[in-house]
Amino acid sequence: MNSFLISKYKDVEPYVPGEQPRDKKYIKLNTNESPYPPSEAVQKAVSESAKSLQLYPDPACRDLRAALAGNLGLKAENVLPTNGSDEVLSLSFMAYAHDEKPAYYPDVTYGFYDVLSGLFGVKATHFALESDFTIDIKKYCGLESGLIVIANPNAPTGIAISLSEIERICKESPDCVVLIDEAYVEFGAESCAPLVTKYPNLIVSRTYSKSMSLAGARLGYAIANSDRIRELETLKYTLNPYSVNRTALAAGAAALDDIDYYRNNCRLVAQTRDMTAEKLKNLGFELTDSKTNFVFCRHKSVPANELSDKLREAGILVRHFTGVRTNDWLRISIGTQEDMLTLTDTLERILNGG
Ligand SMILES: *Cc1c(COP(=O)(O)O)cnc(C)c1O
Repeated sequence: MNSFLISKYKDVEPYVPGEQPRDKKYIKLNTNESPYPPSEAVQKAVSESAKSLQLYPDPACRDLRAALAGNLGLKAENVLPTNGSDEVLSLSFMAYAHDEKPAYYPDVTYGFYDVLSGLFGVKATHFALESDFTIDIKKYCGLESGLIVIANPNAPTGIAISLSEIERICKESPDCVVLIDEAYVEFGAESCAPLVTKYPNLIVSRTYSKSMSLAGARLGYAIANSDRIRELETLKYTLNPYSVNRTALAAGAAALDDIDYYRNNCRLVAQTRDMTAEKLKNLGFELTDSKTNFVFCRHKSVPANELSDKLREAGILVRHFTGVRTNDWLRISIGTQEDMLTLTDTLERILNGG
């Protein structure tokens, strides 16, 4: 192919997002979106924001920052709103790793980390998960410099680590930046955000995409020591000072006023997850202990790609990753209770040869 790309980008591997189909209506259990819409107040704030879209947004995101900080019991200087939490990840890879300062992360984790390593020429060091997909914390202790990245809970395994384990990594690798990606923390794990006042090397990334029903608005934020926030913010201003748009800012602030609605949705999702897990076990699946809004499972006899294809024919999308260690597994997002009943009924039919 004829290319004008400069050589350092010739081999970059882009992220492959889960499919957003347009051919017909599916039950979408493939991209970990919330099955519930944003609250009424958020919808109203979004339409209200349309009236002032001729103006640039506040690049410092002062209102949202203050509101988030208040909710977290931290200061505004400890928070940085971003365009999805993916922007926290890109700014962090850009800021804290390169070809001699490695990024350390599990071999099975969020695929975007490898994409960013490729883009920024970062030396990626993959630490293998144990055979049961748990993380051996010791591997992340005593590292000299660079960026440690751990999704907690991890994706696509769903398995969480404890606060004391995170604390141990921050303490025992004090010259590394420790980035904890909490995209799914609201569904059953414990947030390490309070630790940022104690560990200047800790950065926590959070998102409105999953727990707050705002995947379409692209809103996330970093939580950290004020020095780290300033570093990330400087880079944000070099790349795209207005990365968080007016509508997202309005939606993000309004959602915080409706926090009970979202907490309740997360509780419902967690309950539905546990019910679904029970049913899948009864159908012959093995599952990891997921604390997220998805389950990660494999069937004792039917291959994952076959199940994924048959579910698709039946109008249900799930995610199948083709990595060496994930090839046998399916990641299934948690939808409404009704969606999940349809899923388990359909699987039962498929497994019975129907
Ligand atoms: C979904 C996800 C993100 C990114 O979410 P945004 O939509 O960019 O906020 C980050 N990390 C993990 C592990 C995710 O699954």
